[in-house]
Amino acid sequence: MTFSSSAKDPMSVTTKPNYLPTGEIHVIVGPMFAGKTTALLRRVKLESNDGRNVVMIKSSKDTRYAVDAVVTHDGTKFPCWSLPNLSSFKQKFGIDAYEKVDVIGIDEAQFFDDLYDFCCNAADLDGKTVIVAGLDGDYLRKSFGSVLDIIPLADTVTKLTARCELCNKRAFFTFRKTSETETELIGGADMYMPVCRQHYVNVQSVNEAAKIVLESHKLPSSLILETTLVTP
Ligand SMILES: [Zn+2]
Repeated sequence: MTFSSSAKDPMSVTTKPNYLPTGEIHVIVGPMFAGKTTALLRRVKLESNDGRNVVMIKSSKDTRYAVDAVVTHDGTKFPCWSLPNLSSFKQKFGIDAYEKVDVIGIDEAQFFDDLYDFCCNAADLDGKTVIVAGLDGDYLRKSFGSVLDIIPLADTVTKLTARCELCNKRAFFTFRKTSETETELIGGADMYMPVCRQHYVNVQSVNEAAKIVLESHKLPSSLILETTLVTP
């Protein structure tokens, strides 16, 4: 039996780091005006204060406040990457910079179709902590984008509530004040309001009835909301 000093240690040919990934996924959902972005920023800042390398991503579809910052309804800002999809992030951010990142915050996650694959890869393979904030439901209370798809991947799920604009009770749903019907209609308090279950059901049914009446009288649909809101 001979010993060859040139023989390679079998461990040295391993290209992946020799440790188990320690990634995590945390999901924050709720209606509009529930403080999801505020909660996301708070968690990302805490991680940053703990010395971890953080980065924020938001959808380039939402340009309501600023394109290079995540901004809450109360005006708190955090610099971020505004992207059309998540799959382009690693390349745009830079592979070396990505390697050094510990925590990835994603805001307005309902606009990212590739959310599932991104979170899966980032947490399972790359060991990142991913904190995701987004709408769980649209104005029809149907699943919005891929946000609910990542619940089975998540370590924790937090559903936040807002205050019903009509009675000040806890609000779980987002009511659309206008008559447009596309799912992705970006707007703020001018177009949407948080509502409790009772008011979601009541206002929705009044709105539907008003629409039928107005259509039968050929009146402009912009009158629907006013008709609705005087009868909460
Ligand atoms: Zn209410």
